[in-house]
Amino acid sequence: MSADRVTQLAPGLWAIGQKKGGRVHAFLCEEGGELTLVDTLYDTDGARILEQLERIGHEAGDLKRIVITHGHRSHLGGLRTLKEVTGATVLAHPWEADIVAGERKAQPVSLIPRRPYRTYFPFQFASSLGLGAHPACPVDAHVAGGDRVGPLEVVDSPGHSPGHLAFLWEENRTLIAGDAVATWPSFLPGWPSFTLNERKHRDSLRRLAETEPQVVAVGHGPPIREGGRERLRDLVDAFGR
Ligand SMILES: [Zn+2]
Ligand SMILES: [Zn+2]
Repeated sequence: MSADRVTQLAPGLWAIGQKKGGRVHAFLCEEGGELTLVDTLYDTDGARILEQLERIGHEAGDLKRIVITHGHRSHLGGLRTLKEVTGATVLAHPWEADIVAGERKAQPVSLIPRRPYRTYFPFQFASSLGLGAHPACPVDAHVAGGDRVGPLEVVDSPGHSPGHLAFLWEENRTLIAGDAVATWPSFLPGWPSFTLNERKHRDSLRRLAETEPQVVAVGHGPPIREGGRERLRDLVDAFGR
């Protein structure tokens, strides 16, 4: 299975993945003729996203808003280009917005991975994924838990980063969990050495499980298509104490 691919997850919802940036994914949501994008992939040209937007019969100007799960490099690559091309409103949590805007670096994470993940997270790999520079882009407005962005409800999910956000599309029973959950290289409650605050992260996992989704779309790795609620509960049971 190619990691560079587009998957339709639900009516009006597409996952766009790329191999670079740790099998990173962005999510395109269509409602009432308008498009909302969650994250922007690793590449800086926005091309995969613009291609998919055209493939489903839209033009660049239909992308009305881009919301960012958190300020890590793999999720911010295409932001500046997409903002320039589409004129979309850029939204982020206040605690991530200055990182997105290039005014502050992302908080450092441990680059010495814990066992048993050592093999997956060599130093160069880790440093190329979470940190490093992205093309800076100013944030137009702040969002936080309970707000609506297009068809999505914003869910606060701090832990992986202080202002990490997840998004629930209730009608579609789909949760976009960002980096709070990973499915690559294996099913994990986020990448262990990247979690800044473990206690908050555990609370967030519990909150995400309570949204009872069927589909769980994640920042890194393929989406969970079925039984998302059960899979999240498994994570809470295994890691949530
Ligand atoms: Zn991250
Ligand atoms: Zn990430």
